[in-house]
Amino acid sequence: MLKIGGMRKVNPELMAFIFAAVSKDTPAEGAILSVMIIPVTIKCFACGRTGTREDSEFMCPYCGSRNVHLLSGLELSIEVLEVESSLLNHE
Ligand SMILES: [Zn+2]
Repeated sequence: MLKIGGMRKVNPELMAFIFAAVSKDTPAEGAILSVMIIPVTIKCFACGRTGTREDSEFMCPYCGSRNVHLLSGLELSIEVLEVESSLLNHE
């Protein structure tokens, strides 16, 4: 599982392509890469609300204030790399 913060602007299809390229000729070849986009969560100091944004605008989704604090959305980590055992043992 690859967790990607919404602020990273990473293309999941591009990540899958890169993963396929780097995993070639390794035991991970053929593994499915799961990519999870983490929504951008913003705490607004102007109206006090917390919200999420689908885009990467650093702005309150409710009042439009830029006096905000980013709570999440910068993650970029491979959480779990799951390899289907059926793929490895398939005759
Ligand atoms: Zn606000």
